[in-house]
Amino acid sequence: MTTTRWLAEYAWLPERAAPTPEVLIETVNGRITAVTPLSPGGPPDAGVDVLADAVRLPGVTLPGLANTHSHAFHRALRGHTHGGRGDFWSWRDQMYAVTAHLNPDSYLALARAVYAEMALAGITCVGEFHYLHHGAGGTPYDDPNAMSAALVEAAAHAGIRLTLLDTCYLTATVDGQPLTGSQLRFGDGDALRWADRVSAFTPDGRHARLGAAIHSVRAVPAEQLATVAGWAHRRDAPLHVHLSEQPAENDACRAVHGRTPTGLLADHGVLGPATTAVHATHPTSGDVGLLGESRTGVCLCPTTERDLADGIGPARRMADAGIPLSLGSDSHAVIDPFEEARAVELDERLRTRKRGHFAPAELLHAASAAGHAALGWTDAGRIAVGGRADLVTVRLDSVRTAGVAPAGLWFAAGAADVTQVVVDGRVLVRDGHHLTVDVPQELADAMAEVTGG
Ligand SMILES: [Zn+2]
Repeated sequence: MTTTRWLAEYAWLPERAAPTPEVLIETVNGRITAVTPLSPGGPPDAGVDVLADAVRLPGVTLPGLANTHSHAFHRALRGHTHGGRGDFWSWRDQMYAVTAHLNPDSYLALARAVYAEMALAGITCVGEFHYLHHGAGGTPYDDPNAMSAALVEAAAHAGIRLTLLDTCYLTATVDGQPLTGSQLRFGDGDALRWADRVSAFTPDGRHARLGAAIHSVRAVPAEQLATVAGWAHRRDAPLHVHLSEQPAENDACRAVHGRTPTGLLADHGVLGPATTAVHATHPTSGDVGLLGESRTGVCLCPTTERDLADGIGPARRMADAGIPLSLGSDSHAVIDPFEEARAVELDERLRTRKRGHFAPAELLHAASAAGHAALGWTDAGRIAVGGRADLVTVRLDSVRTAGVAPAGLWFAAGAADVTQVVVDGRVLVRDGHHLTVDVPQELADAMAEVTGG
C-alpha cells in the first residue's frame, strides 16, 4: 500500500461554498484516506516530513466531474451541423447518417478519442446512453453486444469510468410506427428481447458498470416500459430516459395516451431515485411535481439544448422541487463541464432577467457528486475520506483564469484550463496532456473514418 500525498493550493471540499486553501489529500489504492486543511494552524504534527513528498497541485482541485449523458458518436457532427437552419429533427437525420460508418472497430476508435477528450476536460466518469446496437439493417453482430463491448473498452483506454446505459429503442413514434432506415440498427424487437440481450452482457473491467435506458416515450411502447424499468430495478441499476426535450413529444404523448410523457412514465413505474430524466426541457408544473415527489433526477444538457434550439429547462424550479440535477454534454457540440455548469445559471438569468439562481457550490455538485450518483457511482464526486481518488485540477494562471477568485472559476474557466486529472488514484492527464492517448490526432483520424472524409 503506497500512500500518495497531494498538496492542493485550493481544494473544493464537500458542503463548502468556496475552495479551501492549502489542503493535503492522501490517497491509497485509488481511495482518499485523509483530507487535511493546513491553514489555519499549519501542517499536521508530522508536518515537514509529510509535505516533503507531496505532489503540489497549483490552482483549484475539484472532485471528479461526471458527464451524465453522452452519445459518443454524435461528436462526429461537431462543426458540421451548426451553421444552417433546421431543428432537432433535421439535425437527427444528419446524426443518423454518421451511424452508417460505425461498426465495433470504428466505434472503439471514435469513442476512445471522445472519452479521452472528456478526460482532458476533467471528466472522470461518463454515462453512455447507447442505442446503436446492431449491424446494417438491424442484423445483430456475432456478439450481439459487440458495440457495448467496444464502448467499455474505449473507456478503459481513455482511463475514465463508464456506466453503459443500454438503451431500449423499439418504435419510431409515440403511436408505435415501426423503425425504418438507420433506426433499424437500434431495435431489439421488443423489451423482453432487449432484456435478454443486455442480461447476457457483463462489462469487462472494474471501470465499467451496466445500466438501462428507455430511449423516450417515442421509442418504447407504454405497455413495455415496465419491462425495462423492472430489469433496472431488479439489478439496482441506474435507469435513464430522454424526457420532454421537444414540445412535439409532449403533444404526441397527450394525443395518444392522454397524458404527458412524465405522467406516462409515472404510470408505468419508471420514475424513482435511481431514474434520471434527460433534458426535461418542457415539463408541466404537474410533471415537475411528479419528478420531485419520486426523487427522480434530471440531467440538463445546456450546450446541446441551445445548439438544437430545444429551449431552456426550468432548472431552479426543478431543484426547488427536490429533483437532483446533473449535467451532460449529450451531442458533444461542446465537451466542457464548466460551460455546461455555468449555462444552468446563465440561462436562468436570460429567462428571468435576474441573477443569482444557483450558488457556485450547487453547480459543482451537479457536475460532480450528483452526476456520479445518477450513474450509480455513489462513492465518487467528493473530496472526502473513503471516496474515490478522483482529483481534477484547474489552473488559475491562464489567460482565462488569471486573477479569478477560486469560487468564480465556474464562470471563467474552461476545459482547456484543466491541467491534471487523477482517476481512481491514477494520473491520467498531466500538464494538460493525456498520458496515453494523442487526443487531437485520434479525434481527427476517427472523425475522418466515420464522416468518410
Ligand atoms: Zn441524448
